Amino acid sequence: MICVLKTHVPQEKEEELIRWLKTQNLGVHVSRGEKQTVLGLIGDTSAVDADLIESLDIVEVVRRVSEPYKTASRQFHPADSVVDVGGVMVGEGLTFIAGPCSVETEEQVVGVAKSIKASGAHILRGGAFKPRTSPYSFQGLKDEGLKLLSLAKKETGLPIVTELMDIYHLDLFDDVDCIQVGARNMQNYELLKELGHVDKPVLLKRGLANTIEELLMSAEYIMAGGNEKVILCERGIRTFETATRNTLDLSIIPVLREKTHLPVIIDPSHATGKSSLVPPMALAAVAAGADGVMIEVHNDPIHALCDGAQSLTPDQFSALADKMRTIREVVS
Ligand code: PEP
Ligand code: MN
Repeated sequence: MICVLKTHVPQEKEEELIRWLKTQNLGVHVSRGEKQTVLGLIGDTSAVDADLIESLDIVEVVRRVSEPYKTASRQFHPADSVVDVGGVMVGEGLTFIAGPCSVETEEQVVGVAKSIKASGAHILRGGAFKPRTSPYSFQGLKDEGLKLLSLAKKETGLPIVTELMDIYHLDLFDDVDCIQVGARNMQNYELLKELGHVDKPVLLKRGLANTIEELLMSAEYIMAGGNEKVILCERGIRTFETATRNTLDLSIIPVLREKTHLPVIIDPSHATGKSSLVPPMALAAVAAGADGVMIEVHNDPIHALCDGAQSLTPDQFSALADKMRTIREVVS
């Protein structure tokens, strides 16, 4: 249930209402917009008398929220959210996240970080803990990989995003600016609940076979724990089509715009699986209004330990970055 207050409500009246709502065993989420304040009522609102609340002189309107997610809903928080990732404001302007699929060597990750920074990238990506389909494939450098990411951050000033597969590894993530929850873990509810208590932004990837509502419910798990710094990421879903690794669902961008205030990032690398398909889909994502893209870039894609076929070279990324900026200007 949401309760929209009238404009210019005196602070003490607002506080009095919040205190009373809390005595009704409800959590109250306060969202202050430029003109109006929206109170999100969390908990069992079935017994709440909406008409009574609406009759109060400081209340404009009370609405029951039909979606099962609340904190993530745009009704709760009408303005777009901006998530601060190590000083980069995701949701404000166009954000480029780039870097290798996996961290392999110092030369590789620091070299890629320097070149993507020169092309205007804002955040460095790179996996240290890799969720691989085969247990015999390269599993990532783990803590050593995180140290190399920190080194690349120190050398370039780029904040880093990397995947956390198990909450047990969290102690190693002190220097990580944004925690990635991979597609395979989107419904790992114990992990999501733990991340609700962590004071770091989370980049939540859509699962391979999950609906938009399920993605938002997973965001809700994190947000319900108190961590509202969630960024959503579409990375392609499973369909009957085999020409691409997955099918990039770009309609998620306008759908999410209506349903949620959270920033939306598109990953055309995992969606297409093929480097030649990445630039056109990245441009399409920007044209459709994405807040940013996440793109795999490798200095030597043929010899990459993971996902070389979908990785751009630094030069290809640089050319794409120019085009993405142009498209953004046209559509904004
Ligand atoms: C990744 O971004 O490194 C990754 C493993 O992607 P996904 O979880 O989308 O497969
Ligand atoms: Mn990858």
